[in-house]
Amino acid sequence: MRYFIAGGAGFIGSHLVDSLVSMGEVTVYDNLSSGKQEFIQHYLKRDGFRFVKADLLDRDRLAGAIKDSDIVFHMAANPEVRTGRFDTELDLKQGTITTYNVLETMRLHGIKRIVFASSSTVYGETAGQPIPEDYGPLQPISLYGASKLASEGLITAFCHLFGMQAWIFRFANVVGDRATHGVIFDFINKLKQNPEELEILGDGTQKKPYIYVRDCVDGILYGFQHSDGQANVFNLGNRDTTSVTTIGRMLIESLGLTNVRLKYTGGNRGWPGDVPQVRLDTTRMEKLGWKPKYTSDEAVRLAIKEILGKI
Ligand code: NAD
Repeated sequence: MRYFIAGGAGFIGSHLVDSLVSMGEVTVYDNLSSGKQEFIQHYLKRDGFRFVKADLLDRDRLAGAIKDSDIVFHMAANPEVRTGRFDTELDLKQGTITTYNVLETMRLHGIKRIVFASSSTVYGETAGQPIPEDYGPLQPISLYGASKLASEGLITAFCHLFGMQAWIFRFANVVGDRATHGVIFDFINKLKQNPEELEILGDGTQKKPYIYVRDCVDGILYGFQHSDGQANVFNLGNRDTTSVTTIGRMLIESLGLTNVRLKYTGGNRGWPGDVPQVRLDTTRMEKLGWKPKYTSDEAVRLAIKEILGKI
């Protein structure tokens, strides 16, 4: 099998590559805008592995690289939910247009299967929780979430019109080794600058499910291998949640710091576009026979340990 991984040098993408290299030939296509070559460096000389440093907005490069692939894993995007407020074109280009380019290039080269990294941000602020996959209407409140929803729409339309098949995973917050963004990463940087005070965006009560990155990759592959509809959509995360204050306290404890002041910026959400309370209904993955190995709190603890171990 020949796997094409757009965004394969990124945090989640590179962990996916770790699993796929033993399953077939792998092409990583990444512009290294937020990914790092060091995450895949050890595979560069391996038979059957290819790294193409290029942009998904470059359709010619994309066509040349994708053309003999059997399955496309599309893991590339602007990874920050927050940035859309300051640059309203970013998610449109790096989320929606790039997805269109992937799909159109697949169509032109007769590639039929796509696995897509979507996000629970597609749900926006829902009337009830936990949120199942068939919840509606889907009304994202960030441009990041809007671009994920637009991408999902493009994917299902391409599936219907051109006989393609898709696996769409709406991730919770993914944490673990190689993370280059996210709450743990931000908190570590803040505490490095000032070990006496930790600024927490919002009032700290925001609660979300966190999934360990290896669990996330296992879930993607399990869902992909065990479902066969035309457009298969799954929430991928834990049922339980961890609050932002809890993450701050876990980190402070792991760093062995004492007397750290927690300074809250206030308000019930971290930033405009942040959904402060998220609980996902994961029955669909459970019915397939899959559950994450680690709870949300365990995932956060493990991620803290791994990230600190590298500093
Ligand atoms: P990441 O930034 O580490 O990975 C994204 C990768 O895509 C990077 O390597 C980047 O260089 C590459 N990329 C971005 N734009 C590109 C372009 N135009 N052309 C080529 N390569 C490009 O982020 P991640 O956390 O690993 O996220 C992977 C996917 O999962 C993303 O689609 C993200 O939106 C989604 N997701 C992540 C989380 C999370 O908590 N990390 C949650 C929900 C969804």
